[in-house]
Amino acid sequence: MELLDGKKVSKSVKDALKLETARLRSLQLRAPHLAAILIGHDGASETYVASKIKNCEETGFLSSLIRLPVEVSEKEVLDTIGQLNKRDDIDGILVQLPLPVHVSEQQVINSIDPAKDVDGFHPVSTGKMVQGMPTFIPATPYGIMLMLEYYGIPTIGKHAVVIGRSNIVGRPISILLSQQGTYANCTVTLCHSRTTNLKEICSGADIIVAALGKPGFLTADMVKENAVVIDVGITRVADDSKKSGFALKGDVDFIRVAPKCSYITPVPGGVGLMTIAALLKNTFNAYLLRTQGDTN
Ligand code: NAP
Repeated sequence: MELLDGKKVSKSVKDALKLETARLRSLQLRAPHLAAILIGHDGASETYVASKIKNCEETGFLSSLIRLPVEVSEKEVLDTIGQLNKRDDIDGILVQLPLPVHVSEQQVINSIDPAKDVDGFHPVSTGKMVQGMPTFIPATPYGIMLMLEYYGIPTIGKHAVVIGRSNIVGRPISILLSQQGTYANCTVTLCHSRTTNLKEICSGADIIVAALGKPGFLTADMVKENAVVIDVGITRVADDSKKSGFALKGDVDFIRVAPKCSYITPVPGGVGLMTIAALLKNTFNAYLLRTQGDTN
């Protein structure tokens, strides 16, 4: 069994971006600039946004954090995005989810200029992804694809089972794995809460992507020998032994599943770190497209 080390892979992605950014600066060009909107003070959202901003700084990117109060109106959120859309010095815009219930997620996503949609959630980005056109791929599925490529994991002709069909993880990774490509070309089964024979489906899988948000859901009896297991789940579980009072748990019963796998991602230290690296890559590509009309 080999651990898919998100720390190592994300570092290699970020180091390359850091070098490219330093090269831009040496040419007196400005660095890529990510704007993040954070509404309210949800603990997990605060942590995710802080990490994104920190990673921007470490890579040499510019970043702006726009905080809005939890009682902000939908119109104010849309106006804020409208202003960021117009700013020439901002390449990428992300709005940290989840949003307060009175703010429509779809309206917010639709209002972001597709040229700055570095989260890849806009319907224009989704449509292009489905058609295999160059676009911004949602960061978590993109991070998983980068990880498969880094480790040279064989995927062609393999049966991949994805558990979870959200627009940000399950559905896009199912599409990407099914497309043509050296680290794709899988036969994909997309499962969800209405799937009746999940254990049987998973037991036949060469690759399993668990993205449902239920700690320890994927157990050893659902996984065949030498499977590749990608654990996307991140759930905060109360843990008095931690200073924070919680531990992060994945969707896989790691201790029992890992010995059966050829490759597996840990939680933490796996897909989460790749998500941030992929977001930075999207931001860099947005910068190139906007300033030079090209991506590398
Ligand atoms: P989500 O929107 O809540 O979607 C969960 C999906 O899982 C749904 O499609 C749901 O099916 C399915 N599901 C729920 N219970 C199931 C069951 N018993 N059997 C089969 N399928 C079941 O979640 P998400 O946003 O995709 O996130 C999933 C997990 O990934 C969460 O833990 C989240 O925190 C984590 N996450 C991690 C990263 C990262 O960077 N590592 C990024 C994003 C999300 P239905 O559609 O039928 O309801």
